[in-house]
Amino acid sequence: MTRRKLVAGNWKMNGSRAALGELEAIAAAAAASPAVDVMVAVPFTLIAPAAERVPALMIGAEDVHEADSGAHTGCVSAAMVREAGARFTIVGHSERRHDQHETSQDAWAKAAAAHRHGLQVILCCGETGAERDAGRAERVVQAQIEKSLPENAAGDWLTLAYEPRWAIGTGATPTLEDIAAIHAIARAKMRKLIGDAASGVRILYGGSVTGDNARAIMATPDVDGALVGGASLTAAKFVPIIAAA
Ligand code: PGA
Repeated sequence: MTRRKLVAGNWKMNGSRAALGELEAIAAAAAASPAVDVMVAVPFTLIAPAAERVPALMIGAEDVHEADSGAHTGCVSAAMVREAGARFTIVGHSERRHDQHETSQDAWAKAAAAHRHGLQVILCCGETGAERDAGRAERVVQAQIEKSLPENAAGDWLTLAYEPRWAIGTGATPTLEDIAAIHAIARAKMRKLIGDAASGVRILYGGSVTGDNARAIMATPDVDGALVGGASLTAAKFVPIIAAA
């Protein structure tokens, strides 16, 4: 099965209305690369202005709450981000697992909520440096997928992102062999859980992707694109990654 390449940005807790011009340049590059899907997740406060300013670009949220509404002070639901103009959300990012103590079960519930409200989902997994050093990277990723992959996951709404925590924002990346190995075990695990639908689910690599390493990473077997943090904040850094796909 052929899967379209996907390059997704994640602005994290960065950006402002003044930075939205970057998205216009990113949208122009996306239009010039019709074979690649491009999307950018932005902070909640920027979803509506971004979606209004660049309607051609898929704008997303970086997280959603698993409930549809209710007494959850400070939280934002999938329905709310959808109404604001988001068309997808990230769930289970390692920064949420670390900073907010989110679990794979939380990611599962958030993915289900997002799907209920018509959002596409980028579901993240990935080991810590200590887990890799202990030789447990493959088992950790398999366990995360087992606990977080929705039963009805399919490539038309769900994308998996393998993001080793130790590679995020550090400039370090796994070897291409290590990336290929994890992507292969991730796809095998998905196949066990959801059968043939697994072959349609894209698997992105994330963690210190730049214009310099993007081409080699995205040419690695079973790598269907990239989830990009720091290098998605400016068109100057993000556009070369889109071009490399
Ligand atoms: P990075 O972040 O590209 O800045 O390493 C990736 C991510 O956390 O999604």
